Amino acid sequence: MEKKDILSMPYNQLEEEIYLLGEPKFRTKQIYTWLHQKQTTDFSKMSSLSLQLRERLDRIFCINRLKITRKLASSIDHTVKYLYELPDGNYVETVLMEYHYGKSLCISTQVGCKMRCQFCASTVAGFIRNLTPSEMLLQIYETQRDIGTRIDHLVLMGIGEPLDNLENVLTFFQLLSDPKGFGMSLRHVTLSTCGLVPQIKQLADLHLGLTLSLSLHSPENLRRSEIMPVNRRYPIEATMEACRYYFQVTGRRVTIEYAVIDHVNCSKLDAKKLAALLKDMYCHVNLIPVNPIAEKNFQTMRQNVELFQKELETLGVNATIRRTLGSDIQAACGQLRRDAYQNIKEI
Ligand code: SAH
Repeated sequence: MEKKDILSMPYNQLEEEIYLLGEPKFRTKQIYTWLHQKQTTDFSKMSSLSLQLRERLDRIFCINRLKITRKLASSIDHTVKYLYELPDGNYVETVLMEYHYGKSLCISTQVGCKMRCQFCASTVAGFIRNLTPSEMLLQIYETQRDIGTRIDHLVLMGIGEPLDNLENVLTFFQLLSDPKGFGMSLRHVTLSTCGLVPQIKQLADLHLGLTLSLSLHSPENLRRSEIMPVNRRYPIEATMEACRYYFQVTGRRVTIEYAVIDHVNCSKLDAKKLAALLKDMYCHVNLIPVNPIAEKNFQTMRQNVELFQKELETLGVNATIRRTLGSDIQAACGQLRRDAYQNIKEI
């Protein structure tokens, strides 16, 4: 029988498992503390449990690990990019960034992606599978083990579309924020989406306190559908309406992500249309100079990002240009993983 993934079990589920084993209730708390606070990787080290129970747990459950396959440290700032191998041999990327307010980790939520955004490397080879809750959690635990300090902030902006894996993401949030476990406030978490409208509303209704970030990239349906096929299903009007709903229900300001691409989305007219679209919205715009990927011909001249920002400013829209951390190791999102598969194929 396959062992059960204990790190994917929120407290109440573990409690049920422990009850079914005929163990007293307080054992759940002990085991949960070992797993999520002390982050023990081996049942045999859970010294407050009897030897017999440790062996029993080891026969029924597994404590998954991720393996660091590659690690690239920037020589410009403190950004570190990890390529993690999952228990089944697939790969995902995780990026550690340092800000004045502490350490922030960008995690992946799927192996590959279905969304087919034209400028994104994560989607080039298609979708393989969803990550389990423990595989999301372990990106944090393994990175902390590697650096020896605590991660304070989290962004779900790595490989994958988090709202396309909502059930596992919600279980992950439950594990992440449980004060009996890791105990990170969801106010320290940002979830980025390409705009799955029903899931945005569902998330709003849960009042989790996290920040929603919408990848907009164009204020115009025709153009947005060209670069982001998801727009054919959920056009800009419906997407913005869902973002407004998110703000109304949660009181949390939505962030608008906008990857600036020469000749695609940064003309004066684009700025005008963007300003009109965001006119009565409580949001913040983040401009990202597009990161070129090998397969596609998208690029940005830095001065065009600045021009676009100025244009927006004159129209009354406050926009910041995202600091391009670790530019020497950047290899746009998803490229490390793709290269790993290619290297393996070559062998
Ligand atoms: N699927 C989610 C989260 C993952 S992508 C989403 O779409 O938001 C994280 C962010 O990186 C998104 O804003 C995405 O549009 C952006 N992105 C993807 N490829 C990029 C590239 N080559 N250059 C700049 N930003 C990119």
